[in-house]
Amino acid sequence: MSDDIGLSEAERSAGIVRCDACPVLCRIRPGRPGACDRYANENGTLVRVDPLVLLARPDLPKVAFIEGSNTWAGELGKGEGAPFTEPFVTGIGATTTYPDYKPAPFIVSSKHDGVDMVTVVTEGIFSYCGVKVKIDTDRYLGPEQATVRVKGEAVGHVTTAEYGSQMLSLGGVHHLTGGSKKEGVVTCEALLALCAKEAVELVIDGGSTVTVQADRPPIVNGTLEERMRVGCGSAAIGMFAPQWKDHVDEVIVVDDHITGVLSEHQGGAFLDMKPAGIRVRGRRSTPGRYFQVAEPGLGWGGTDVSDPLEIIDRIDPKTAWPGLKLLMVSTTGEHSAWFELDGDLKPRPAPMPAPVRKVVERIAENCEPALCTVLFMAGAGGSLRAGVTENPVRLTRSVRDALTRVTLGGVPAFIWPGGGITLMVDVSKMPEKSFGYVPTPALVAPIEFTLRADDYAALGGYASCAVSLEDVLRSTKVRLDK
Ligand code: SF4
Repeated sequence: MSDDIGLSEAERSAGIVRCDACPVLCRIRPGRPGACDRYANENGTLVRVDPLVLLARPDLPKVAFIEGSNTWAGELGKGEGAPFTEPFVTGIGATTTYPDYKPAPFIVSSKHDGVDMVTVVTEGIFSYCGVKVKIDTDRYLGPEQATVRVKGEAVGHVTTAEYGSQMLSLGGVHHLTGGSKKEGVVTCEALLALCAKEAVELVIDGGSTVTVQADRPPIVNGTLEERMRVGCGSAAIGMFAPQWKDHVDEVIVVDDHITGVLSEHQGGAFLDMKPAGIRVRGRRSTPGRYFQVAEPGLGWGGTDVSDPLEIIDRIDPKTAWPGLKLLMVSTTGEHSAWFELDGDLKPRPAPMPAPVRKVVERIAENCEPALCTVLFMAGAGGSLRAGVTENPVRLTRSVRDALTRVTLGGVPAFIWPGGGITLMVDVSKMPEKSFGYVPTPALVAPIEFTLRADDYAALGGYASCAVSLEDVLRSTKVRLDK
């Protein structure tokens, strides 16, 4: 960081400093923060406001460290026999390498199992970034490709459903920089809040309003989602058919994707169940498996159905019989109803027998807690790679060859195969206050590259800039996390 380049004499004498940690180049008055609140003018000196975050190794007890005092009060570094005897220096609070060619702010050398290692630590400014959100719910959130909005601004879109979950793609360069200024600002705010594990209300065009928070249950149109389904309607039939067989004549598991009908399904046929003659609406895929029995919605099994009998198309008088016992249940067991056919073969509600109730409860018991998962996804671009080595493509190759481990806030990242360093990481595992932003707009996230010191030298790294952990502690305000 330089703090007076480009300032006028008047600005200098007013004690103003200039931050060059991102393209905004804030001029900051004494005692004030910059536009992103991450840097400030402290008595005429530009400082990074937040401490550098160190992670205690899992095999070490957490020790007291007095923030800002440069006093190390623990025994770290003296562990016997542990592969890692020092805390890990993360990129949180590390500062950036902008404008790209500066070496990373911390290149920390260490010894692990007798091998000299380096960890190259920086805060990356990610213009190409977003989050992938997985929402465990059967409820209908909106059509695929529908726009997802925050405060009326488009911040992303609905992608396909996965097994028991709905996926959203939020952020990305088109929303951050390709739309109006307001769209970029709102997108950046929403991403920052989601990455900080805060709740964000998302409104989906033609669909629902859903409150999303990392590692917490979603709230869909004001209702807290509790259960992630045990499987689709067909899977539920397969799983529980033997437990139903002696107590029912038919079971229909209502599901927006695949509704299952027990007596027709292989699960029932293998148990010698006789056909019950109840035909559900929708498109028959294979025996006992039906698609599109209703419209998607917030009712039974992610359909718009509140009365399950709506999905029955007809009852064949040649096959069905008075007294036929029918269970209708949703994929989570949240909805269930018991019917018996009367003399006109009309389903009449009746008290559910205890053994059947038990299996319905078992469906619910086999559901998992519904959660939202937020994965930060970004591409490590020019400034990041150039901050590690003068020859950035070698870093990419080294990551691909698994010689360099990439972590964000100490959490291992999934690296996409193919070109570049395109990564994903679960924000819920990252330390508090891992993310920041700059008003360009872009997100700021910590990133660490750890590799053998000889490999680092071979890829043209800034080996001469390497410092020890003790050097870091002497010169920098730090915070120790678990
Ligand atoms: S927005 Fe933040 S990082 Fe960018 S110049 Fe201003 S204070 Fe520095």
